[in-house]
Amino acid sequence: MLHRLFGMLGADLAIDLGTANTLISVAGEGLVLNEPSIVAVEEGTHRIVSNGCAVGHLAKQMQGRTPHSIAVVRPLSAGVIADFELCEAMLRYFIRKAARKGFRVKPRVLVAVPGCITPVEKRAVFNSTERAGAREVLVISEAKAAAIGAGLPIAEPVASMICDIGGGTTEVAVLSLGDIVAQQSVRVAGDAMDLAVVDYLKRHYSLRVSKASAERLRIEIGSAYPLEEELSDEVPGVDTISSLPRKATLTSEEIREALGTPLLQIVEAIKATLEQCGTELVSDLADHGLVLAGGGALLRGLDRFLTEQTGLPTRVCAEPLTAVARGTNICLEHFDRWRGAMQSNDEDV
Ligand code: ADP
Ligand code: MG
Repeated sequence: MLHRLFGMLGADLAIDLGTANTLISVAGEGLVLNEPSIVAVEEGTHRIVSNGCAVGHLAKQMQGRTPHSIAVVRPLSAGVIADFELCEAMLRYFIRKAARKGFRVKPRVLVAVPGCITPVEKRAVFNSTERAGAREVLVISEAKAAAIGAGLPIAEPVASMICDIGGGTTEVAVLSLGDIVAQQSVRVAGDAMDLAVVDYLKRHYSLRVSKASAERLRIEIGSAYPLEEELSDEVPGVDTISSLPRKATLTSEEIREALGTPLLQIVEAIKATLEQCGTELVSDLADHGLVLAGGGALLRGLDRFLTEQTGLPTRVCAEPLTAVARGTNICLEHFDRWRGAMQSNDEDV
């Protein structure tokens, strides 16, 4: 009861502002919002359609089905804010929705950001979040939040390794004694995999498909490692020569071939992170292994593929899509313990 009251008076909010999905949790309550990071606007403007409600799920439903006067856009690209105004509008909508039970005062907000974010991009996150209605803004690196959410013992004097594969970026980090010892952040993740599938269909089938269809196909039958029973699925598209609609049937082997380049780029990021680590840390990792988080971790056989490629025993954490959100929520709920992991607006950015 008292907890609820505190929540209403000065609730703390954590936001996993992902390229693909935005998740918001409230300290003491847990996850309260999980929606795609997209908005539908009047073409050429920043006016959100449907009276400002075409954000998240509703905007996703409109994707690919809008007239020319409406554009469905993602305010974030490769993990960072691509369109300030839209990002702010989206955040404002999500924060209001998450706070539907009514905050009396503006919330303190913790935002998870990618490791490769530049100072200018970080400033944009602070500003957008403040203008969207936050009293105080703090940021935490996504990799750290994912490791905390995955339950890794990052405060111990032992190396833990996390690889968070989202829509726009893959974050790889080795942590020990509560901090990041080595990290790599590459702009290769789900979106790059979708583009690889689009490209494969164009080259091998003369078929033009949307990124959304490529993503569906990748989720349906994609894999990183040979499957016991290979799969196949149909994808609708447009013939590149006749411009007529046509379907193609693809196998999981073909999608695996298409995903080859982005997957090897992720392997390179993991190897580059290991190269930054001393012998003690690397030998810890040989025992404790690599833990995968983010929606990209759900690709079939990715754990086996990465075990083979890196020599590290690899596993996917429980519920990888919410790992970062769970981590940020733990930081809020144990604020004093994790304060050192967060950076606020008035510290150097
Ligand atoms: P972000 O943090 O960038 O918003 P998420 O961690 O939410 O990203 O993951 C989104 C990505 O995960 C998308 O590229 C999506 O295609 C992918 N994804 C979601 N579910 C699956 C699945 N079952 N199999 C493979 N990929 C998936
Ligand atoms: Mg993410």
